Amino acid sequence: MSSAIDLVLREARIAGSEPRVVDIGIGAGRIVAIEPNLACEAPVQNLDGRLVVPGFVETHIHLDKSCIIDRCTIRQGTLAEAFSETTAAKRGFTEEDIYARASRTLVNAISQGTTRLRTHVEVDPRIGFKGLDAIRRLKQDFAWAADLEICAFPQEGLLNDPGCDELLIAACRNGADLIGGCPYVDSDPHGHIARIFAIAEEFDLDIDFHLDFDLDPSWMHLHEVLRQTERMGWGGRVAVGHATKLSAIDTQALAAIARRLADVGVAVTVIPATDLFLMGRDHDHSVPRGVTPAHRLAAHGVTCSLATNNVLNPFTPFGDCSLIRMANLYANVAHVGHTADIAALLDLVTTAPAKLMNLPDYGIALGNPADIVVLDCTTEAAAVAELASPMLGFKRGRLTFERPAATINWPNAR
Ligand SMILES: [Zn+2]
Repeated sequence: MSSAIDLVLREARIAGSEPRVVDIGIGAGRIVAIEPNLACEAPVQNLDGRLVVPGFVETHIHLDKSCIIDRCTIRQGTLAEAFSETTAAKRGFTEEDIYARASRTLVNAISQGTTRLRTHVEVDPRIGFKGLDAIRRLKQDFAWAADLEICAFPQEGLLNDPGCDELLIAACRNGADLIGGCPYVDSDPHGHIARIFAIAEEFDLDIDFHLDFDLDPSWMHLHEVLRQTERMGWGGRVAVGHATKLSAIDTQALAAIARRLADVGVAVTVIPATDLFLMGRDHDHSVPRGVTPAHRLAAHGVTCSLATNNVLNPFTPFGDCSLIRMANLYANVAHVGHTADIAALLDLVTTAPAKLMNLPDYGIALGNPADIVVLDCTTEAAAVAELASPMLGFKRGRLTFERPAATINWPNAR
C-alpha cells in the first residue's frame, strides 16, 4: 500500500468528522489512505492539526461579467440600474475580453481554496456564443485547478427575445452542463419557467433559476418552480438563486415553504453580498437586509448554499471570491452567533453546495480525487468566525496554490 502513496499530509483535522487528527495519503491524484500514524516513506507535509476541507464549492458565480466596474456607473445601486449598466457594457464584450476577466476572477477563487464552481453564462442574440466559447476554453485551461460547470441562461429573458431559444438549444448541444432561467425579466414568467423545464427534459440537464429577486412576498415564482419540479419528477436537480422574497416572510410562512422545498427537492442558493448591496434601496433608514436565512431553511432539510454571484460589477462592486468571507458575512447578517451554528455554516460552502451540484466524488474519503484545502485554523467555527486563511490547496493531488501566513517582525528576539 505504502508504495502507492506519493504524498502524506500528516496530522490533519478533517472538517465535519471527529476531532482527532489523521494522516491522509495521496496516490495517483486520489485519496488512498486516511488513518492515524500512517506508516509510509513518501514525502510528508505536516499540518500540525489544521483543518482540511475538500475545497470550497461555488454554486453561483458569473465569470463572464466579472471585473467590469470600471466600465459602469453606479448612481442608485438598484437592481434595475445594475441590469441596465451591465447590459450596456455587455454590448462591448469580446471573447478575448471575457476570457481575460474570467481568468482573473477564477484565479482569485482558486487562491481562496475553491475547487469546484458552477458559473452562469449568458446566451442571447446580442452576446451570441462569445461568453460560452470563452468559458468553455477557460474550463479546459483551468481543469488542473478547478472543475467548472457551465450553466447557460437567458439573462435578458426568453419568450420576449426572438432567437434566444434557438441559441440556448445550441448551447445545450455544445458545452453547457446545465440550463438556467431568469423568469423575472421575461414578459411571460410562467411560460419562461415551463420552457426551461422542457429544455432540461429534452437534454437531461439540471436547472438553476435566478428567482424572486425583490422583497415583495405577496407573489413568488417559486411556487411555479416547485409545481413544475414535482410534475416532471426533477427533485434534487433544481436550484434557485437569490429568492430574497423569503427574507420578507415570517417564521411560520418560511417553515411552510421550507418543508415544501425539502419535500420536492428544490435547493436554494443565497448570495449575501449582492442581496445586501441591491435590496432595500427604497429605504433611507432601517434598511432591510434582504438576505434569505439559508441556515434556517437548511434546518428544515432544504439543500442550501452560500455563493459569490457577482464580482466587481454593478450587481456587486466588491469581491475577492473567498467563500469563507461569504460565510462570515452571512453569519453577521443573519445573526448566527452560537459556536455550533457558526461551525455549521462551513457546510453551506462545502458539502451542501456539493450536494446541490450533485457531485458524487466530493469529500475527503478513500477513492475520491485528492482535492484538499488546508485552512489556518483547527475548528470549523474558527474557520468561519476568524476568516481562516486557506494556506495551501491540492487538486487531484497536485499542489495548486500556497498562501504563506504573515510573518510578524517582533521588536525583540523571541
Ligand atoms: Zn446570478
